[in-house]
This record gives sequence, structure tokens and C-alpha cells, in this order.
Amino acid sequence: MQRLSGLGVSSGIAIGRAVCIETRTEEIYRFPLAAEELDGEVERFERAIEAAHDEILRLRDKVEKQMGDDLAAVFEAHALFLRDAGFVRRIVARIREEQVNAEWAVHRTIEELGEQFAAMEDDYLRERREDLRDVAHQLLRSLQGTSHHELSDLEGDVVVFADLLTPSDTLRLGRGKVVGFVMETGGKTSHTTIIARSLKLPAITGLPGVLAQVTDEDPVILDGDSGCVILHPTKEVLADYRRRQIDWARRDRELMATCALPARTADGVDLELMANIDLPEEMHDVQRYGATGIGLYRSEFLYIERSPEQPSEEDHYQLYRQLVEVTAPHPAIIRTYDLGGRKLASELTNIHEENPVLGLRGIRLTLAKPEVFKPQIRALYRAAVHGNLWAMIPLVSTLEEVEQFRSYAASVADDLARQGVEHRRDLPIGIMIEVPAAALIADRLAREVDFFSIGTNDLIQYSLAVDRGNEHVANLYQPLHPGLLRMLRFVINSADDAGIPVSVCGEVASDVRVAPLLVGLGLRRLSMSPRAVGRIKSRLRALRISELEEIAQHCLDFGTASEVSAYLDRALTKKVSLGTNP
Ligand code: PEP
Ligand code: MG
Repeated sequence: MQRLSGLGVSSGIAIGRAVCIETRTEEIYRFPLAAEELDGEVERFERAIEAAHDEILRLRDKVEKQMGDDLAAVFEAHALFLRDAGFVRRIVARIREEQVNAEWAVHRTIEELGEQFAAMEDDYLRERREDLRDVAHQLLRSLQGTSHHELSDLEGDVVVFADLLTPSDTLRLGRGKVVGFVMETGGKTSHTTIIARSLKLPAITGLPGVLAQVTDEDPVILDGDSGCVILHPTKEVLADYRRRQIDWARRDRELMATCALPARTADGVDLELMANIDLPEEMHDVQRYGATGIGLYRSEFLYIERSPEQPSEEDHYQLYRQLVEVTAPHPAIIRTYDLGGRKLASELTNIHEENPVLGLRGIRLTLAKPEVFKPQIRALYRAAVHGNLWAMIPLVSTLEEVEQFRSYAASVADDLARQGVEHRRDLPIGIMIEVPAAALIADRLAREVDFFSIGTNDLIQYSLAVDRGNEHVANLYQPLHPGLLRMLRFVINSADDAGIPVSVCGEVASDVRVAPLLVGLGLRRLSMSPRAVGRIKSRLRALRISELEEIAQHCLDFGTASEVSAYLDRALTKKVSLGTNP
């Protein structure tokens, strides 16, 4: 038996067998070859073509059986591509003329072809770039001799061990037989871990090199609360964790028991604890865990899940209508796609960004590609007829972005009116405050929008210059940094002065230590993963606003996060033990 200790990022206990997945594509290097090596390299390339071709045909047969002819045709097209004499000749010529390794020749040729596809007028042909990428991927895999798991092949209670997973990998895997995730890298607020939580699957990150220690089929246990991974558990340990699994489920039910209690402080101030929803099926958790509405629906996961298809206006409308009906009379705050950054929808942008997290993301992408967002915006106006729907824009950094969005949204509403389609024109439009510059002009922004929601996941990332998914700088990802607290205070005051609602929807809202501080800073509305509502409610019910305000004021005067943290622990422990709630 072997115990490994990582960072628990999604709670719960999983027991299963390991399946290892390497997702990081190898870096592709250019190696100069000597003239006498070229024949051998061409032969290696030709063998890889054969292997990739066989693999694609195998996939085609499987897909055909499971999903029918239409999807199988996609693989057919990929196989034909590999048989295309012009394509093969071009790569062989590159190997010989440039005297380079086959990987490089494939990579460069695919890039060149991709650029030609991207420049095509015809939408259909332009979109074939994706196919080209898939073919390249397959070819590079077989060149590099990397075997891989077909994600949908996984069976039984599988614990996925991976170097790195994208949010969409996690989504796809989590919908299958997977019972838990262990990843070498990733932080608590990365979107991959947020999705693991939404899927209610335990997850552990921060275990560099773990893939080298685990073999497929190894029996494993993972405890997403403590961050502990146990390989080859003994019978006794296994029995112990099976008991803990039952206890965990019982605690979950107990949390639900707090649903009926009002979210009210010990001195009678009402609070609103709302739910963050990433996946449509979570809408039922809103009531189950006693949340008052949806404070953030991350609509981009609908897009990611359907990709390469795009959700239609009707898809959006039906879903949003359900969301507002489930949350009525409370609001359902629906955020327009926050694509880009690490949630890159490559079919949307035909560009390569060196640093996508500082690139075409959120509202920037909306304004760059408004036609992609049109069905979504039309659906928001239409669904608003059925309940309390608020629309929210991500990653705003300037006033102009708000003006441009408003004017685009107004033109969409004009179209609906002209077409006689039922809609609600005065739907509240708010923004995420998650860029430091936006936080610092919150007083000006507050005059232009109907509400704020503070996205601390990104606000911390951008204000402390710390990648939220990078465990190497996780110690600098400091939610209690006084600089951040001062920014929060300014945003909250600006919203209060302008008389608009303000909430926090970042992960800090579900932290039992930070949530009371947020309330002390003036927030009355927090949005968090539904399962956290009970825990936060119990904690806040034991505290008094007047005391929390005093604590928050004190925190603003410290110079470091560790001072804030130590003080907060002392102060809150004292107050919680004194707290009562009628
Ligand atoms: C945030 O940045 O805090 C937020 C809620 O948005 P996301 O986590 O989707 O970036
Ligand atoms: Mg964000």
C-alpha cells in the first residue's frame, strides 16, 4: 500500500481502479537529419500513416456501431485524407528537401494547409480545419508511438490519473464511468476542478510525477477532502474507506437539512446565498441545497459540451426558461459565454495566442464575434419573459465594452421586436468584476449597469499576477491579500452608492473563513457551489453583522495575507462560539 498526498479540490471519496491518461501533446521539435537518414525517416513516416489509417478505421467501425453512419462518415473522411497522394507527397517532399524529422514535416504541412482552409470563403470548407487537426493529431501520435485511451472506452469504477485535463475532457470523462480524478497539475479554482465539483466527483491535483507511480488497473482510493491518494489499499483500509463513503453521503444529507433555515445572521440580517451552476442537471440542486436562485450560470460549458456543433437559439431558450422557472421568484443570473483563455473554442478564433488568459476572452470575444453570441442573446431576451432572468457579461475591463455590448444587445432586441417575437426588453444587464482596472472604476461602471458580480477567481489571478491553475505559485494565490480586500471594499461601496445589487460568485464565497469576511465587508449576496450553501449558512447564522463589520475593518489595515488569516481565525473562532440564532 502506498499513500500520496496532494491537494483535495473536489470533495468526496472514490474507490476504483486507475486508468492513466496522458493528454499533453508532445512538443514538436525540428531535428535536422543527415542525407543518409532520409530514406529511413520516410519509411518511418509511411509506417505511421498505415498505423494511423488503421486506427481511424477501427474508430469508424466502433462509432458506426454505437452512433450510426453520420458520425462514422467523419472518420471516413479522415481516413481518406491519410490516403490522399498529394498530402503524403507533400510531407515526404518536406522531409527530403528540408532534411527534417517526420514529426516536424507533418506539423508544418498541417499548419500550412490549415491556413489555406482558414482563408476559404465557404463556411463548410473553413470548418474542415478541425478535421485536419484531428488527422494531424492521429498521425503525430502514431509517429511518436504514443498509445492512448479512447475516453469513451473506460468501464467500471474508474479513477482517472492524468497529467492535465481540459474542462471539456473532464466533462466528457465525468459523464461516463469515472468516479474520481487525480491530476498532476491544477489549482483549486481552475475550471477543470470547478467542473469536477459540478459533476460531484472527488478530485485531487498537485501530484507532479504521479503518472509514473501508477499503472492501469491499480486499485486506488482517493479522498477529495484530505487530498490523500491510496494505491493498493489493504483490505482493512478499503473497508474503512467504504465506511467513510457512507458517512460522507450521510453528511451530505444533513447539509440538505439546513435548506429550510433562513440565511440570516445571529442579529437578524437577511442574506442571499445563491448557487453557481455549470451544468444544466445541477439546476435541481438549487432548491435541494436551499439556495436562493442562481448567482452564476456558466453558459460556456453548454457550448463546450456541444462543440463542434453550436447550441441553437432554441436550445438556449429552452434551458434558460427552465432555469428561471426553477429559481422563481429568485433571479437566475446567466452569464454569456466566457470562452477564450483556457476555455478556448478554437473553432471561434482562427488565431494562435501566446497568452490566451490575457487574450481574446469573455466580452472581448463577444465583441469580436458578435454573430456567435446572437442566438444566446436572443434566447436571453425571450426566456426573460418567463421569470427573473438577469444577463451578465464576463471579463469586462472598460466602460466602452459595456456600451458596445449594450448597443449590440439593443439591436438584437430591436430585431426581436421587428419580428414580433415575444421578449422582455428591460432585462437587467450586469457585469462580472474580475479585472483589477474594472474594480478600480467600479464607481463609474456602477452607473452603466444593473448589477455587479465579483469574480474573485479571476480578480485574484489578475491582481496578484498568479495563474489560477498553476500549483507552483499556489502560495501566492491569496484570497486574503489586503490589496484584494481593499478592492472588494471599493467595489461593494460603489455598488451600494449607486443602489445596484452586488455579489461575489468566485470560489471564496464557499470558504467558511472568507465568507464571513465578505459579509463584514458589506456583501449580502454570495453565490457558490450548491453543496456549500448549507455549510456557509450554518456558519453565518452563528455570527453578528456588527462584529463582522468590525473584523473586516481590522483586516483592511493589515499588510499581509498571513496576518489577515491569523487574525481572522482568532476573531471568528471567538465569535462563532458565542453566536446564537433565533
Ligand atoms: C471568477 O472568475 O471568479 C468566476 C466566477 O468566473 P470563472 O471562475 O468562470 O472564471
Ligand atoms: Mg472569471
